[in-house]
Amino acid sequence: MNYQAERISRIQSSPSMAVSQAAKEMVRQGINVVDLSLGEPDFNTPENIINAAVDGMRQGMTRYTASAGIPELKAAIIAKLARDNKLEYTAEEITVGNGAKQLIFNALMGTLEADDEVVLLAPYFVSYPDLVKLHGGTPRIVRCYAENNFRPTREDLAAAINEKTRWIILNTPSNPSGAVLSKEDLQMIGEVVRPFERLLVMSDEIYEKIVFEGTDFVSFGEACPALRGRTLIINGVSKSYAMTGWRIGYAAGPAGLIQVMNKLQSQSTTSACSISQIASVEAIGGHQLFVESSRLEYQKRRDLMLDGLRDIPQLKAFSPEGAFYLFAECQALLNKTTPEGRRLTNDTDVANYFLKEAHVACVPGAAYGLEPFVRFSFATSEEQISLALKQLSAAINKLC
Ligand code: PMP
Repeated sequence: MNYQAERISRIQSSPSMAVSQAAKEMVRQGINVVDLSLGEPDFNTPENIINAAVDGMRQGMTRYTASAGIPELKAAIIAKLARDNKLEYTAEEITVGNGAKQLIFNALMGTLEADDEVVLLAPYFVSYPDLVKLHGGTPRIVRCYAENNFRPTREDLAAAINEKTRWIILNTPSNPSGAVLSKEDLQMIGEVVRPFERLLVMSDEIYEKIVFEGTDFVSFGEACPALRGRTLIINGVSKSYAMTGWRIGYAAGPAGLIQVMNKLQSQSTTSACSISQIASVEAIGGHQLFVESSRLEYQKRRDLMLDGLRDIPQLKAFSPEGAFYLFAECQALLNKTTPEGRRLTNDTDVANYFLKEAHVACVPGAAYGLEPFVRFSFATSEEQISLALKQLSAAINKLC
């Protein structure tokens, strides 16, 4: 019996989830694995947000809501976009979904026709190519090399864009490279895409609040106001407020596009969870102490990881400007032989070796469309990071 529709056969399960499942399996077997494969904050959701959810439940916030979200949350999002990004949006231009990922899904499902192309900048967030393929589009990959600080060149971008291009998806700060696109980078991209009138820009800004000293976050909307009618900003509470499990994301864009997404949402999940929505009003509109304290914590961990990797020259580290991942090149490990006599032929072999020998879980660059790299998450304690570095160094020294 074949249960799978053709459209599902075009996609695979999330590779980063697969690594963390393999790590969890080893933990079940009693092995002490340092899991650096995770894409979520290790902090608990701040108390003021939890209290808002509990109060909300007591006050009857337990029913279906409007598909696009409750008015209080939309108002908090509008105020946030004005406060943090200097952007003016109205309620019809905002929609709330079950996480940023669902909004990306809705936007692509709502707009892609067969033969449409979507430009993705590699290394990209693992879900983009699969979501594009699921909805009948074709990913067009533009590689952004480490030597160019994981930015696209104008030439490569121009070569990938044509009349069939429906979207370009940007992600700043980037998962997995940590690159934060400057106003000039965004304006260059804006200039290249502007002549293509059907082309929409999706700017995934979910790591907006996790940006390190010396770097400023600029929203694509602020950098390229002339493209406002073709820009969809994606954001959410998962990363900034340690709320991955609450499943709230939001999108800001032209009312016509938001309407398409709302129509789809009204026939799928109806709305995002009412309780999570009321909690997100407090997250986005309440005091922002957690945002700054967690940002400083991530910065300390990033520095610790960069420091440790200086002693492991086989892993070439690039200093992330934002998000909580370090994307390290592992070219020097290819063609090395493990103590069991296996040759490491690509970054998936390297990540598997790290898991088996160093008991450190990380995700191979292949998952993000740029090889040979491994992605380490530093959304974990300093003790765990130090332990991982020690074990990685020992495992690498066993290769010949
Ligand atoms: N975009 C990027 C770049 C991400 O890294 C993630 C989460 N790993 C998401 C979107 C999805 O976020 P959410 O929890 O809001 O669905």
